[in-house]
Amino acid sequence: VADPEFGRRDRRGPVGVEILISEEEILARVAELGRRIDADYQGKPLTIVAVLTGSLILLADLIRRIHLPHRVALLQASSYKGATTERGDLAVNEAFAPVVHGRDVLLLDDIFDTGHTLSALVPGLMARGARSVRTAVLLRKEGRQEVAMEPDYVGFEIPDAFVVGYGLDYDDDFRHLPHIAVLDPEKHLPPR
Ligand code: 5GP
Ligand code: MG
Ligand code: MG
Repeated sequence: VADPEFGRRDRRGPVGVEILISEEEILARVAELGRRIDADYQGKPLTIVAVLTGSLILLADLIRRIHLPHRVALLQASSYKGATTERGDLAVNEAFAPVVHGRDVLLLDDIFDTGHTLSALVPGLMARGARSVRTAVLLRKEGRQEVAMEPDYVGFEIPDAFVVGYGLDYDDDFRHLPHIAVLDPEKHLPPR
């Protein structure tokens, strides 16, 4: 990154990022989602399947707000959005192979943007024998969706800007921020 101030902290946090959703707002909303999930999955064999790496912090906070017994699994998928591959092509890392047979799966991701990632993962989980698959995201970007499905649980609707923090990265940086921030395009290179 060319910017010498990249990621440097001042009292407000790293330079070049503007807070969009505070830590307090996030934690309050995550607790609400936990209460809804508790109510919706009473008596069901719930497994939360989190998409690495962006949903890790959400996963850790959310499962501590779900009081029903449930299991946790991870999966890794990378999308090819380059010019040579069709948008929506998704490479799923088979090494993770989440065990979901007979389970009611809640598929968790950081953000619902075009929707291609989550919509492509649902059939794979059903093929692994899941009893049901629903989806949950912390963020949904307004006006960006290119698929028919919508997430079942959404933390916040956000404007169409590139956001980082609370697990979301820019080039693998900024995941550790406790809040959601908008990356200042004048201070940082555009996302690759
Ligand atoms: P979709 O397949 O819905 O277009 O994209 C979902 C994935 O793209 C997310 O899991 C995330 O990795 C990435 N993504 C989309 N928008 C943003 C954003 O504003 N900030 C960051 N850090 N990642 C994003
Ligand atoms: Mg992701
Ligand atoms: Mg990323």
